[in-house]
Amino acid sequence: EIRVPAPVERIIGQLNEHGYEAYIVGGCVRDMLLNREPGDWDITTSALPGQVKELFHRTVDTGIQHGTVTVMVGKEGYEVTTFRVDGEYEDGRHPKSVAFTPNLTEDLKRRDFTINAMAYNKATGFVDEFGGVEDLRRGIIRCVGEPMDRFTEDALRILRAIRFSAQLGFEIEERTLEAIRVIAPNLAKVSKERVQVELTKLLCSAHPERIALVYKTGISMYVSGTFHEIYGAGMPGTVNAPEDYSGVRTEENSPAASGGLSGPSPIPAIPVSIPTQKHLRWAAFLRNATPDQAFTVLKDLKLDNDTISRVKTLVDLLGQPLTPEKPALRRVMSRIEPALYDDLLDLKEALLPFGVPETGDDLRRARALSGEIRRDGDCLDLKSLAVKGRDVMDAGVKPGKAVGETLAALLELVLEDPSRNTRDYLLQHLK
Ligand code: ATP
Ligand code: MG
Repeated sequence: EIRVPAPVERIIGQLNEHGYEAYIVGGCVRDMLLNREPGDWDITTSALPGQVKELFHRTVDTGIQHGTVTVMVGKEGYEVTTFRVDGEYEDGRHPKSVAFTPNLTEDLKRRDFTINAMAYNKATGFVDEFGGVEDLRRGIIRCVGEPMDRFTEDALRILRAIRFSAQLGFEIEERTLEAIRVIAPNLAKVSKERVQVELTKLLCSAHPERIALVYKTGISMYVSGTFHEIYGAGMPGTVNAPEDYSGVRTEENSPAASGGLSGPSPIPAIPVSIPTQKHLRWAAFLRNATPDQAFTVLKDLKLDNDTISRVKTLVDLLGQPLTPEKPALRRVMSRIEPALYDDLLDLKEALLPFGVPETGDDLRRARALSGEIRRDGDCLDLKSLAVKGRDVMDAGVKPGKAVGETLAALLELVLEDPSRNTRDYLLQHLK
């Protein structure tokens, strides 16, 4: 059983003593009921931001315009937000306007899903006005209020619904899923960074295969053109959309019957044995794309350059068989960082049951040989080549591009056979 941390209890106690209501709210209440460790503890209160600031020594105005004050306890910060009703959302996180309310229920009503719209404090116990406990028990993601309205207010909620479904292994309730299909085009208005954060959380969840829902609900084309192109053939929004998306709803093809996952999935398996690092999960997901497509998708979604280049390299190398022979392995190892090479082997191993271009024996052999290559300290890059640019120029190669090309050719010889990595052999070869 997860308990409310002492500083959180103290903050709530302090607010109560001064006559204000205060509760923990949202994700932490959901996670507590699921016996999961909450990521953060959010507090909601009837006190206005100025009143919160008067009660605590150290506060930071982290989101004062939205009613949020961070109360510092030691090095930890706890967000305390005044009960509020929201205007329209501009970026999925921050509404354009907020109005404070003295009423907890009003605050809970603005929240996205029933399981995220519960509050708790010791004196009152759980406040659950929208059936969140029941939906948690049944494993259902359901909008608070009218789904069409809620997704129209903030289209990011569309991706949040799918992301929570993947993190918790929950089904999306039928009317909520239907509204997702209808409001899908609004996702085009959501910032790519916010879309990326949700997709990354989805891929790094316990059910990454649920990214299929992004295609099956018809939102993939609003994520990015290339994203849609990769696995979207025959999906909603394309000319050959399958029957069960034609709008005729029967009991069998009702989206809720299978969480919207009915019909064949073009998404390759993403085994959860793959560690939850974003470059690994993205690479597994994008492995049937071309490296250029992978690059474009991640660029569109504003991922950091480091992740983009790692994923592109992994997608490229996942598609090519690793030849279990030292020269071929040295060539691959010379192209990428040691850590990324290890990632490549781990990925290929995790994907073995789902089809990779090599056999399990090849992979085991490759792993053993790469271990030897490292232990023996075989030359894998220009840094450890026995001759430098200077030597090449002394041997008569004109300064400029030719020097680099010559060094690359010499490295190629050494990758083939590391015993060639001596000044004598390489200078001899230059002549
Ligand atoms: P996580 O585990 O990802 O932190 P969370 O539920 O805590 O999940 P947050 O983004 O931290 O999600 O938001 C905290 C709470 O604020 C949510 O539980 C929900 O009640 C509310 N909320 C967040 N984003 C939205 C939104 N776009 N629309 C409506 N309510 C939202
Ligand atoms: Mg949270």
